[in-house]
Amino acid sequence: MSANTFPAQIEPFKWAEQGFTWSGTLPLSRFVRISRETVGSIDHQLINIDCKLSMDAYHRIVWLDGHVETKVPMECQRCLQTVEIPLVSDFHLALVDDESLIERLDEDADFIVLGEGEATIKGSIDAPASADLLALIEDELLLLMPLSPKHDVCVHKHQPADEDIAEEKRDNPFGVLAGLKGKLN
Ligand SMILES: [Zn+2]
Repeated sequence: MSANTFPAQIEPFKWAEQGFTWSGTLPLSRFVRISRETVGSIDHQLINIDCKLSMDAYHRIVWLDGHVETKVPMECQRCLQTVEIPLVSDFHLALVDDESLIERLDEDADFIVLGEGEATIKGSIDAPASADLLALIEDELLLLMPLSPKHDVCVHKHQPADEDIAEEKRDNPFGVLAGLKGKLN
């Protein structure tokens, strides 16, 4: 395993203590849920990732900070040609293993309770809480993907048919995700 191999699973608390950082690029195709929404070949599309883990002063909350950017080819809902949608995310995400710690966070803080959802696995003394770093990053990017991607100005004119209009009214496939992600009110 090279020094720059992207870790599939992280142990947030242990790795934050060790000052984990990762910078590099991954093929877009490794992000399966994003790939599903793309059109054409994404063989040469990359995602640039910078991320780090750090621990709060009380050693109870791990902060995952990151900057991620990529371009995703999607189908323009107006002309049906490919439109490259830039996705850029700067995230500051609290990882906690105990829901009671959420009270310590700022009102508008984004957080993930480890052990909830598919991105994380509840830890025990034998197996500390781990998280799927790729899935966490993918969640952040999915929230930014437009439901109805369009060119700013379409080169190819296309008269919308009835089915296109119906398409725009479909449910947001990522609405569920937005609901899973914690937000304090
Ligand atoms: Zn277009």
